[in-house]
Amino acid sequence: MVESPPKEMSRNPPAERPHRILVLGSGFGGLYTAVYLDRYLKKQPNVWITVIDRRNYFLFTPMLHSTATGSLEPRYIAHSVRKIFRRTRVHAHIGEVRNIDLSNKIVQTEHRSLPFDDLVIALGSETNFYGLESRLENIFTLKSLKDASAINNHLIRMFEKAYWEDDPENRRAALTFVVVGGGPTGVELAGEIHEYAHRELLRDFGRRISREEIRVILVEATGRILPSLPEKLSLEALARLRKIGIEVILEGRLEEYRKGVMCLRGKEPVRAETLVWAAGVRTNPLTAVLPLEKDSQNRIRVKGTLECLSMEHIWVVGDNASCLNPWEGRPYPPTAQTAVRQARTVAQNIAARLTKRPEKIFAHNHVGGFVSIGDNYALLSAKQFTLSGILGWFLWNLVYIHKLPIVRYRLFSTFGLFLKVFFERATTEIDLCPEYEESPRTASGFGEGHPGD
Ligand SMILES: Cc1cc2nc3c(=O)[nH]c(=O)nc-3n(C[C@H](O)[C@H](O)[C@H](O)COP(=O)(O)OP(=O)(O)OC[C@H]3O[C@@H](n4cnc5c(N)ncnc54)[C@H](O)[C@@H]3O)c2cc1C
Repeated sequence: MVESPPKEMSRNPPAERPHRILVLGSGFGGLYTAVYLDRYLKKQPNVWITVIDRRNYFLFTPMLHSTATGSLEPRYIAHSVRKIFRRTRVHAHIGEVRNIDLSNKIVQTEHRSLPFDDLVIALGSETNFYGLESRLENIFTLKSLKDASAINNHLIRMFEKAYWEDDPENRRAALTFVVVGGGPTGVELAGEIHEYAHRELLRDFGRRISREEIRVILVEATGRILPSLPEKLSLEALARLRKIGIEVILEGRLEEYRKGVMCLRGKEPVRAETLVWAAGVRTNPLTAVLPLEKDSQNRIRVKGTLECLSMEHIWVVGDNASCLNPWEGRPYPPTAQTAVRQARTVAQNIAARLTKRPEKIFAHNHVGGFVSIGDNYALLSAKQFTLSGILGWFLWNLVYIHKLPIVRYRLFSTFGLFLKVFFERATTEIDLCPEYEESPRTASGFGEGHPGD
């Protein structure tokens, strides 16, 4: 079935066929593309803009680790797409994209077939296990709200388990938390788990669990954590992690994780009942099979204008796009920052094409970066400027909170984070994932279904 026009359009059908723009995905790339399209096409009434996503919310991933460790309520970082676009001309279509037919210019969702004139692909990425899937059992990932609440519940349950356990080896295994992947997600999550375990859970379980029994390990396959950030920042972050007591294993190649035992190449096995995999992403499987020119990581190659190299009127933003950074000669990293900036360029270029104006080339040079490392501490670096400690942490949070799309949640989150500094975090289990009730060890792992969304 082909979709009918949005309600307000059907009341007053325009004489000419409207120009139909479909945006696939309402994550950082897709949501902001639709927001900018609505803004730049204000004077073009005969344009339909539809944004499609299988979730009815935009997920603010940079703060997902705070939800996984009880400091931010899930809804503060998940904002209803319908609400965001309620007073705009953007039509939110909530449903799974099943097929993208580029030659006939039709996208098939679980509800409708949607024809398009311009297509923006922003379907993001999924977790990459680099072929280790069959050797990883009962691990966690951090890509969705469900993952975050599963981690939060599991951390609490491991403390409960250790509380009643008399065997010292078993207690140690329950209280050993491993994060694999030394990128921003892994570093931030390891920092938050450390803080949550030592500051919050220890208070609740301190009668039978001591500080010395808790172990947080961060494993990175290369010789450096935070490779996408300036070297100075990554060295400072490493020093900070070690100072607060996180064991950082560099050049640590995970070979297997089964029955709660982590095996790193050339190292002694370690018993740990928690392993979170935060070691990389790969492009969405739907975009990976499209007959378009791709790079070695299956991302769609685009021109500087962010239009596909091999097809006109197909635009790509965010994690799906392979767009060369002219200063570095390699593709931009898959980050939210990149996606939001590209969204603006794509919207400008679609509007320019419609109004026959010159198009823009996407060029953005990352001059610094920042990362938070638990214990109300963050590191910021931009050109010659570096800031660390609680000031950096406040700035880190304010920058991110300011970017939340719904103003009300900006206020809630700011308030929540201020409370976090002075009061305790939540240590309550959340029943967001019913299967977790049945079997805590298979909530997000390979035991039952694929982790992630
Ligand atoms: C835990 C975590 C922390 C991060 N922290 C940071 C950070 O601090 N700073 C930073 O810059 N970047 C960070 N990132 C990376 C950042 O989230 C991504 O680079 C960014 O979201 C990419 O934007 P995107 O629009 O390409 O994809 P996404 O934001 O992932 O959006 C893709 C959308 O497509 C939808 N979708 C996918 N498949 C389908 C389908 N078949 N049908 C319908 N809808 C579909 C998804 O539901 C999703 O809403 C983090 C990522 C994670 C997971």
